[in-house]
Amino acid sequence: MPNNTQVDLNHKLTLRIIELSIITIFFALIFRPLIVDLPIQFTVIILLDLVIVTALYVIVRFYILPKLEIILSLCTAVIILLPTLALSGGVNSQAACILPLCPIFAALIGGYRESLIITIILALGVILATIFSQHITDLTGEIHSQQKSIDRGFWLTISIIFSGVFGRFFLKRYAELTQQLKNENIQDPLTGLFNRRGLNLHFSTELDNANTANLPLSLILIDIDYFKKINDMYGHDIGDVCLIEIANTLSQAIRKNDIIARFGGEEFIIILPNTAKRDAAVIADTLKTTIEKQKFSKFSLALTITQGLTERHQDNDNALKMIKRADKALYRGKDKGRNCVELSE
Ligand code: GH3
Ligand code: MG
Ligand code: MG
Repeated sequence: MPNNTQVDLNHKLTLRIIELSIITIFFALIFRPLIVDLPIQFTVIILLDLVIVTALYVIVRFYILPKLEIILSLCTAVIILLPTLALSGGVNSQAACILPLCPIFAALIGGYRESLIITIILALGVILATIFSQHITDLTGEIHSQQKSIDRGFWLTISIIFSGVFGRFFLKRYAELTQQLKNENIQDPLTGLFNRRGLNLHFSTELDNANTANLPLSLILIDIDYFKKINDMYGHDIGDVCLIEIANTLSQAIRKNDIIARFGGEEFIIILPNTAKRDAAVIADTLKTTIEKQKFSKFSLALTITQGLTERHQDNDNALKMIKRADKALYRGKDKGRNCVELSE
């Protein structure tokens, strides 16, 4: 189900499409006679279009139809286009060059469904216009050769289908890129873990769930011991590789539902949903020994981590308070000599 903001945006977009259609018809009605003599059928059809579109505008203006609006307005735009074309030379009309653009517009404005429907309506319209092309003269009164009309109809249909297929590919790629952008927005580029934004997003969801269901939730704040030494001894690049390797080890050591993020330079946070402090301490202890034993690809030194651990308090707890408690515990751990797990009160 689309959310309210989406419904509102679609509604505004639909109104703009219809307003644009009305303005286009209006201009066609006023300016066409200045260029070529206007046959009476043309005026009648355009006036009829104007009535249909205005009626649609009134409906959409006063009733919100979330599932129908965009498709209705796009179909109306096409339905206006087809009779107009049919009276101005059919597939031989100069205006026919607009047709292949319509499925792409429909994909941009609506989506897959809208683009597909517009492609089908236009392709069928062009096939019909080609079949009856010998009966259609354009506004200048010129009669076109049947063979030429068939050629034009064929290429128009191919272009419309191609545009529909392109619209689909465009949307697919657009969705992929949007997803990639979303991921990059919440991902730490060095380690691939969540960054602070990603952490905030997932932590608040987990905390809300825990608060609602009154379930335990623990948080471990991890800081690598004497990491500055690695940078000083081996350089920043090797320090980076070391951070990636520790991040990989930590993310492999936790469970599927746990959340890990890079909190700062050489600090990580792990959120353990549905886990009480006692169980989280066992996990933290495993992490401690895993890191102690870890072999690094760029140097032979062993590293250790200090961890501050806290659990969600029953009343009035929030993410910031939990992180502060874990930080306090972590610094107690550092004072006690590092490579340990310190629990908050
Ligand atoms: P402590 O045991 O007290 O935590 O000692 P430490 O040296 O780890 O602590 P400190 O906070 O003094 O230093 C952290 C170092 O982490 C400093 C900084 O150069 C390094 N660092 C932070 N971010 C990065 C990074 O992205 N890449 C690299 N290579 N180093 C980083
Ligand atoms: Mg630090
Ligand atoms: Mg450190």
